[in-house]
Amino acid sequence: MDLAFTPEEQKFREDIRAWVADNLPKHISHKVHNALELTRDDMQTWAKILGKKGWLGYGWPKEFGGPGWTAIEKHLFEEECAMAGAPRIVPFGPVMVAPVIMAYGNKEQQQRLLPGIASGEVWWSQGYSEPGSGSDLASLRTKAERKGDKYVINGQKTWTTLGQYGDWMFNLVRTSSEGKPQTGISFIVLDMKSPGVTVRPIKLLDGGFEVNDVFFDNVEVPAENLIGEENKGWTYAKHLLSHERTNIADVNRAKRELERLKRIAKAEGVYDDLRFRDEIAKLEVDIVALEMLVLRVLSAATSGKNSLDIAGLLKIKGSEIQQRYTELMMLAGGAYSLPLIREAMEAGWQGDFPGGNPALAPLASNFFNYRKTTIYGGSNEVQRNIVAQTVLG
Ligand SMILES: Cc1cc2nc3c(=O)[nH]c(=O)nc-3n(C[C@H](O)[C@H](O)[C@H](O)COP(=O)(O)OP(=O)(O)OC[C@H]3O[C@@H](n4cnc5c(N)ncnc54)[C@H](O)[C@@H]3O)c2cc1C
Repeated sequence: MDLAFTPEEQKFREDIRAWVADNLPKHISHKVHNALELTRDDMQTWAKILGKKGWLGYGWPKEFGGPGWTAIEKHLFEEECAMAGAPRIVPFGPVMVAPVIMAYGNKEQQQRLLPGIASGEVWWSQGYSEPGSGSDLASLRTKAERKGDKYVINGQKTWTTLGQYGDWMFNLVRTSSEGKPQTGISFIVLDMKSPGVTVRPIKLLDGGFEVNDVFFDNVEVPAENLIGEENKGWTYAKHLLSHERTNIADVNRAKRELERLKRIAKAEGVYDDLRFRDEIAKLEVDIVALEMLVLRVLSAATSGKNSLDIAGLLKIKGSEIQQRYTELMMLAGGAYSLPLIREAMEAGWQGDFPGGNPALAPLASNFFNYRKTTIYGGSNEVQRNIVAQTVLG
């Protein structure tokens, strides 16, 4: 196993760094470095900048218009973007549904759907979970009935992240009740402006509206929006989930947030407290260990060796790390990190209170928001079951 980067890879990193420095708008990186709320416009501005360069689909092969980078190059690109304060790419289009369309969609679907994802023009949402069907996803009940050249969809999806902005949505739907639950599921994409689609925001613990309920009431979807074969959707869903879980681990964001934690701890005078330093050190060790794990997987992939299927493991460690740095930031801020005044934050308020450190303003909001990380993308308890079965044997 060789974890060192080659001179060509170092050069690649420097080129990416220079390009990001020239092209990432400063008002957006300021928000990211200070964990301030990003608007739809912020996220899409960056997506379109990447799209224009051909890098929004940075993991895509050349035949589909991607840069055709190696696993290492993709990692370096992600790291440089994260450290520079670029927003995370909203993954539903370029990271999740695109690989499914490439692997299982037909030519017509690839030509119709991929360009809008690559350019950042079309915002996608993920319709997997339903009330009562989260961990036990195969029990999902949203029904699609074939009627002539259409499917008619009825049911409800939930926890649809940023679905309020969604143009298109990929869905797991039930097309058969025969046999095992997994064998009656299909993968259908739909235009969220279709008559009968209702999006209702859900207010979260942090006061924000990041997720939604989506209702389907006799929604008519052209049959050509079925991806792959009817009743084979479970196979495609699993293909997508491994991309989702690896993406959630996001070790590069953890490295950036570690720097923010140190900045906050220094400003708040706790950086020299030995006990607090121990906590930072423990976190740093875990982040480095996660990075080594990611690099091991990349190194194995590059040298053609079989790597362990460890998407679940990366998700568990990455999400725990994300929760820990938000906790330590709260601890560093002490009583000053407690106020959670949503309206003030939305108006761009920067923590104008005694103590006066603007970095403290979003801490409570981030802390509450990050409770989600051990739940979404498949809860960590369920991931442990999967790791136990597939890795430990
Ligand atoms: C912020 C956020 C964003 C999300 N975004 C999306 C999205 O965009 N699209 C989408 O489709 N879904 C989304 N989800 C849904 C997410 O995938 C589910 O919440 C998750 O899979 C858990 O399902 P559940 O909420 O139904 O909990 P449940 O499955 O009801 O689980 C409840 C508890 O029981 C535990 N549990 C369940 N089964 C087992 C088991 N076999 N062994 C041990 N413990 C078990 C779980 O770990 C959990 O603690 C999002 C969720 C959140 C919180």
